[in-house]
Amino acid sequence: MRLENKVALISGGARGMGAVEARLFAQQGAKVVIGDILEDEGRRTEAEINESGGECVFIRLDVTSEESWQSAVGEAVNRFGKLDILVNNAGIYRTHNVVDTTAEEWDQVMDINAKGVFLGTKAAIPALRENGGGSIVNISSVAGLIGNFMSSAYTASKGAVRLFTKSTAIQYARDGIRANSVHPGTIETLMTAPILSDDAYRQDRIDRTPLGRLGTAEDVAYGVLFLASDEASFMTGSELVIDGGRTAE
Ligand code: NAD
Repeated sequence: MRLENKVALISGGARGMGAVEARLFAQQGAKVVIGDILEDEGRRTEAEINESGGECVFIRLDVTSEESWQSAVGEAVNRFGKLDILVNNAGIYRTHNVVDTTAEEWDQVMDINAKGVFLGTKAAIPALRENGGGSIVNISSVAGLIGNFMSSAYTASKGAVRLFTKSTAIQYARDGIRANSVHPGTIETLMTAPILSDDAYRQDRIDRTPLGRLGTAEDVAYGVLFLASDEASFMTGSELVIDGGRTAE
């Protein structure tokens, strides 16, 4: 039980990597609050976790709204008495080069992927401080480390998450709050299903990954679990790359 007696809030926890992290956290003893705009999927994930002996609550959370974040953190604290862990996982993916990226697309991606992480962090810090400390895990991407042929706003948003995480780490270390970023490579989820359905593209991604395969949500979830747990108690402001070796070249 690596998260025994911990309370975790995971944004974008209705499906994909967030849902897998929620299941793993619950298996490891955490009480989990998942927040998402997808209510049906969120309720399904909540039910699955509770039926298999875990403790999970779904709440509607729009990460672009400060009020929504305030009530999500309030709900976690009211329901379970405290907050130990925040996973800023919610995100969207858009693939356009610079010239084809509209100002609207840029704003939408930055709102969800970057501002959403800021607002979540801002809302959680008082509760984490009150708790005597905690762990914030921000899901960036390899796109937050290196440039990308296909996406512009997405890479900018994930790069913002990387450095915002380090500022958070420095500012709140003395409150016992740790903040680290996670940088997954290509992971098979509904987010990447449209691009990976192109066989040539899929093979190209595999070929560019030294370990010779795409990642799974579980590959990432175990890294997030580690950073969330007390096992990582001397880690803050760091970057955990989970990409099959893709950015090592
Ligand atoms: P996903 O699309 O399956 O899950 C993303 C979740 O975020 C969804 O449940 C979605 O409803 C939620 N979400 C979107 N906008 C939201 C909002 N405004 N408020 C609340 N929730 C919102 O995708 P995934 O692959 O599980 O991605 C999870 C995270 O990992 C994202 O931040 C993504 O950018 C990042 N990531 C994914 C990959 C990959 O290859 N799949 C690689 C690197 C990083």
